[in-house]
Amino acid sequence: MINRTFTMIKPDATLKGHTGAILKIINDAGFRIIAMKMTHLSKIKAAQFYEVHKERPFYKELVEFMSRGPITAAILEKENAVEEFRKLIGATNPAQADEGTIRKLFATSVGENAIHGSDSDDNARIESDFFFSKLEQF
Ligand code: ATP
Ligand code: MG
Repeated sequence: MINRTFTMIKPDATLKGHTGAILKIINDAGFRIIAMKMTHLSKIKAAQFYEVHKERPFYKELVEFMSRGPITAAILEKENAVEEFRKLIGATNPAQADEGTIRKLFATSVGENAIHGSDSDDNARIESDFFFSKLEQF
């Protein structure tokens, strides 16, 4: 089934100039970009986006990190998009990520791991709607 996932190229990757290289990998893997924008999350917005993690010990660090620089948010379409994209980005901790995955190539640590990918169809919808109106989704 063709479905959608949501991604963000995180501030570490943006500030190191990896945005273009990461978008090319996403493109070459057969994902269709149906919405995209570059923006800079405020601490409030970053805290809202990652609210599910608010009880975790790394939450404050995560919010600081995600608001440190610009991000590129996008909605991607492909067959089995959520699962296929999680495979393409690799494990949360780059030390455990498979060769050739985006996190293996560009992440530096479990916190500063270059890219986000939704973990379910429901969260993909919620996260897409956080950034994009219906008119911005093609
Ligand atoms: P994401 O949701 O960003 O795609 P993920 O689903 O692989 O990542 P989650 O468990 O949802 O991992 O964690 C969300 C984000 O919180 C991670 O991508 C990372 O930036 C940060 N994070 C997770 N675990 C840690 C940790 N132990 N220490 C510091 N930061 C962490
Ligand atoms: Mg997650």
